[in-house]
This record gives sequence, structure tokens and C-alpha cells, in this order.
Amino acid sequence: MGFAPAHAAEESKLETQFKAAISSDRIRDYHRYFTSTPHPAGSKSDYEVAQYIATEWKKQGLEDVVIRQYDVLGTRPVSTSLEMVAPRKYTAVLRERPYDVDPDTQNPDVASAWIGFSSSGEVTAPVVYAHSGNPEDYDLLRRHGIDVKDKIVLVRYSNPYSYRGFKALAAQRMGAAALLIYSDPAEDGYKKGKVFPDGPWGPESHIQRGAITYDFMVPGDPVTPGWASVPGAKRIPENEAVSLPHIIALPLSWHDAQPLLENMDGAVAPKDWQGGLPITYRLSGSVVAHLKVEMDNSTQAYYVVEGRIKGSEFPDEWVLLGNHHDAWEYGGVDPSSGTASMMEMTRAFGTMLKEGKRPRRTLVFCSWDGEEVGLTGSTEWGEQFADELRTKLVAYINVDSSTSGHNFEGGASGSLAPMLVETTRTLQDPGGGTLHDAWLKSAAVERKEEHDRRPVTDANVVNIRIGSGSDHTVFLNFLGRPVITLEFDGPYGVYHSVYDDYYWMNHFGDPGYRYHATMSQLWGVTALRLAQADVLPINFEFYGSTINQFLSELEKNKHYDAAKLKLAAAYKAAKELEAASGKTEALLEAAIASGKLDAAQSASINGLLMKGEANFILPEGIPGRPWFKHILYSARYTYAHLELPAITEAVESGNWPEAQHQTEILVKALTAETALMKEIAASLEAK
Ligand SMILES: [Zn+2]
Repeated sequence: MGFAPAHAAEESKLETQFKAAISSDRIRDYHRYFTSTPHPAGSKSDYEVAQYIATEWKKQGLEDVVIRQYDVLGTRPVSTSLEMVAPRKYTAVLRERPYDVDPDTQNPDVASAWIGFSSSGEVTAPVVYAHSGNPEDYDLLRRHGIDVKDKIVLVRYSNPYSYRGFKALAAQRMGAAALLIYSDPAEDGYKKGKVFPDGPWGPESHIQRGAITYDFMVPGDPVTPGWASVPGAKRIPENEAVSLPHIIALPLSWHDAQPLLENMDGAVAPKDWQGGLPITYRLSGSVVAHLKVEMDNSTQAYYVVEGRIKGSEFPDEWVLLGNHHDAWEYGGVDPSSGTASMMEMTRAFGTMLKEGKRPRRTLVFCSWDGEEVGLTGSTEWGEQFADELRTKLVAYINVDSSTSGHNFEGGASGSLAPMLVETTRTLQDPGGGTLHDAWLKSAAVERKEEHDRRPVTDANVVNIRIGSGSDHTVFLNFLGRPVITLEFDGPYGVYHSVYDDYYWMNHFGDPGYRYHATMSQLWGVTALRLAQADVLPINFEFYGSTINQFLSELEKNKHYDAAKLKLAAAYKAAKELEAASGKTEALLEAAIASGKLDAAQSASINGLLMKGEANFILPEGIPGRPWFKHILYSARYTYAHLELPAITEAVESGNWPEAQHQTEILVKALTAETALMKEIAASLEAK
């Protein structure tokens, strides 16, 4: 897509050389380095990792390598403790068991159980089991006459999945005194398969650390919402920070959760609340616990490493590639697999540059910090360079975890979905065949498991419903730039625990580092295509049809009332966009294939294509969450994807005038997009 015939052959040659330069052995070496010490955001070892990346990038030949510092509200554990005081005594271990086969698990620098942005405090109170800690769970408790006010709420991580910060907000709103979140073996332990060190699932003592920042309201440093935490920046008082939780929280292994659960003697919990432990789960009873958490919230410095390869022809058009370097402990999968894939990819780009092959557009590489604490490094960087990014950023390609298994998962804003599909056709899957074939096959298996009967096709294999939870958020939702997210996944039950390490990767995740290597290739080739194309491979035809789909899903929302909100105008506008962009695409394809588009014409079309995504940006943001400005994509508070966020939330809260107003905004955006497509078409027809 986007290459004139003469350039397509050159590009193909360049990609072949690029792919051949990637070595899985070198990725293993990088991975060993990144997984050698625990390096949570703000720690000394995390800073050392940032310095290592900067030094390597300079050696590799990247240009303008700098480390950007952000002074952010910190969150570090000073001490945590939990005891059951009734009906019998039990002191929680809050530590993960070391194993002889894996010396990394014996490292005394591994932290105990803690939650980022837990409040400090001490409480002794009855414990209530609240299933997943979602609002409907509290409704059920209420029906059983159980009020969780001033109690300690014990919830499990994912049945169904919701972001732990959402559980914290739900518990805080219920007036709970504290929140304990534990990993149930039904979700990531022995009920799934063999546990570490014999298998990929979480063992008895594994602890899923994590932050509970309310980053679904505003990500990044809670005291600089919407602007960068550069040293000396203005900060708001902590009590005005909407993303700052006000609840004591602690994560637990099921080893520590079981004594609390099995000593309850109240009403038996419903069937779907029963977990994988060999006990009867109850709602409440005579269990009383004493919990104490002391946190240090003094300012911490986070470090984002930035490097680039300046474009030979269009230095002010940027393709950005990013991964975070902070990890709860070693981060074998999350994020070190991605960091290792990135380092080998940047090395290949550096080699290319040394051979005199400079891409036409600028490649910018960023190694983020503090992703785990609220998407902080990428958010602050995106806010710092917002004006430049709004006009220069062609696309952002995010790889958080690159590999926890063999199943490829590709996500993209609708306008980049077709080019992502096309790119996978030119890569080999380590399991045989093309990555494209392997992707369609694994997606079909996944759909079958989820009882989704839609056949997998090129038109629906890309995940275009992009929620939050990683570093693409600021670029998509705040800046309105197109994004791509790439990952290989598989059976993985040690997320955010000490066992997510080098041993795990070498025994279960990707022992030969072949999928890591495929990721380095795919990530690099995708960026190369965006950086080299004559006409940017941004396709808005697909957007028209996906918006139609989003509208029909909105009509199926149980809160939707056709008498109160008419969507006909929105459907019509989406259809018009589909038709106009379809025509533009056809004209563009023909013009590119003819090889007759001159440089000036391509440049002017690219300028217009770059403006396309911004039509879906609402400067004042979606109601109640002004930081989130994209009107097609957002995330629910649970982190689940949410399409047409402003209209949907207005419909769900029964605010029909707002729903109407937001629908008019959508129609306006679609109309502007259609006009843009027609402008491109007219410029082609004029020739
Ligand atoms: Zn991550």
C-alpha cells in the first residue's frame, strides 16, 4: 500500500535486508540483561536500565539520543503487613517462594506485596469477599444485607477481568476501609495448567503487583493532569487530583488469601463466585484482619529515553516506536520481552543507517518509564511535545510485552488496520507459513473458544477496538494520532510477579526467542513502510464501515432507546464517508500504480491524509473526562474498550440531550472527514 511500482521493489529489498539482520541470539542476550535486576519505575536500577538503553542506542548509531526527566508524584512501599486476628491468628507472608532451579527468584532485592498508589494507613476490620469487586458484585452483597462500609474487601483479580484501579474506585465509592486483591487459581493458576517452575501458570505464592491509579480519568502524573511533569512544572494539590485513589490496597497470593476465605462462616457465595481453591467461598463471617500499609509519595524522577533516525526527505514527518522499560520485578514478559525486541530492531536500523540507507521519514524511538504506574512516561512525553506531535506524528507503534506465546495479536486504529494486515503477509511465522496465515488461524481458534461465530477475515482480524492499559493511550486519545499495537501471547499466569522472568521465558514463553525476533522484524518493517511510502498507507474507507458497525452496536446497547436518540444522520454520514473514501482509495491506488504521481502531489496528499485522524478529536474532550479527546475510541473504567465513548456513556446514563449533542458532534466529524476525502479525490481528478 502506498508504494509506486518502482519504489515497491526497492522497499521489498530493503525489508529483506532488515529482516535478515535480526538475530534471536542477540535478543536473548538483551533479554538476559533486562531481566537481571528488579527495576520498578523510579528505582535506581530502573534509571540504570535507561542509561544502558541510551548508551546502546548511541553505539548502534541512533541520532539525538537523550534522556528526558520527569519529576512525578512517587509511590513506593515503606512497609506492608497483614494479619488475620479472628477467628484465629494468621500472618500473611506477602512474599513469593524462591525455587532452586531459578536463582533469580532468590534475589533479596525482590519486593514484597504492594500496590502502586495505595494510600497509607492502618485498619482492623471484618473481611468481606466481594468476588471481582465490580459494582454488580456490591449489588449482590447488598441484597444479602452486607454493607462493606468501613470493612476490608477481598476481591479476586479477574472473573471477569477488570482493571485493578477500577476495583479500587468501586471499593472507595462503597466506603470500604481497604481493598485486598488476590490471584485465584481458577484464573491464572493450577486450574489452568501446570504452575511455575513446571509450567507457565502462577504458583501458590505468586503475587500480581500493580498500580491502582485512576488513569481511566486522566493518565500520567496525577498532579500534572494535561501538562508535562518537567522539572519545576506547576502541580495541583494532591486532594484535587482526580486520578489519585483514596483507599488502602494490597495484592495477595492465594496462599495468603485462602486463610481469610476458608475461615469465613457467613452465607455461601453464589456458584459463579466460587473459585479454584478447595474450599466453600462465603460472602462474609467472623474473619477480622489487621492491615497496615505505609507508602512514600515523595517526588520521583522517571526517565524516558529518546533516539531517532532523521528522515532524508521528510524529517518533519515522524513514525514513533515505543516500549516501556520499567517492570514490577524482572518483567520477563512485561516489558522486557518488548524491550529486547526493540533493542535488536534499533540495532538493525542503526546498521542500515551506517550502510547509508536513511529512511525518507524520521523514525523516533522511545523507551518509556512508569508505564506500570499510570502510563506516566509516555503521557508526560506526549503532553510535553503535544503541539509538535499533533502535526508531525504519522503514527505510533506500541509494543509493551512482545512475547508470552505464539499467538499474534495485532491492534490498530481503523485507518491503519489494512496496512497492518498487508504487512503480516511478508513475514514468516516461526511455526511455519506466513505470519498472516498463523494470525488468521490463531484468531479462529480464539473465536471458537469465545463462541464467536464470525469467520476470521482480513477485514475483521485486526483489533480495532483499542482500549487503554498501555503507552499508546496518549497518542490516540489525547493527541488524535493513529496507533498500532503488536504482541504475541499465550498461556501466561505470572504477570507482574517475580516469576515473570528469564527462566519463565526460556522454559515456557519463547525458549528460542524466535517470536521475539519475528516481533523485531514486524515492528521494524511496519515502521519502514510508514516511513518510506510514497503515499501514506492510511485508509479511511475502512473507518466508514467500522463506524457503521459501532453505531449498530450502540443500537443493541440495552440502555439505547430509539425513540429518544435518532442515529439516522450518523448512519448516513458514516455511509457517505465510506463511499467518498472508497472512491478516493480507488483513485489513489490507480494513481500510485500508474507511477505518475509527482513528489509535490504525493506530499500534498500526505499532508491531507495526516489530518484525517484529527477530525475525530474533540478539543474539550468527552464529557467528564476532558483529557480523553477521541470520539471514536476510549476505554471504560475497567480498561475494556469503549467505542463512541461520549454517545455511549450519555446513553447508558439516560442523558438524552447529551447523547443527541454528542451524535451531532460525530456527524460533524464524519462530514469533515468526507470533505477531506473529496478534497483528495478532487486533487487526483484534476490531474
Ligand atoms: Zn507493560
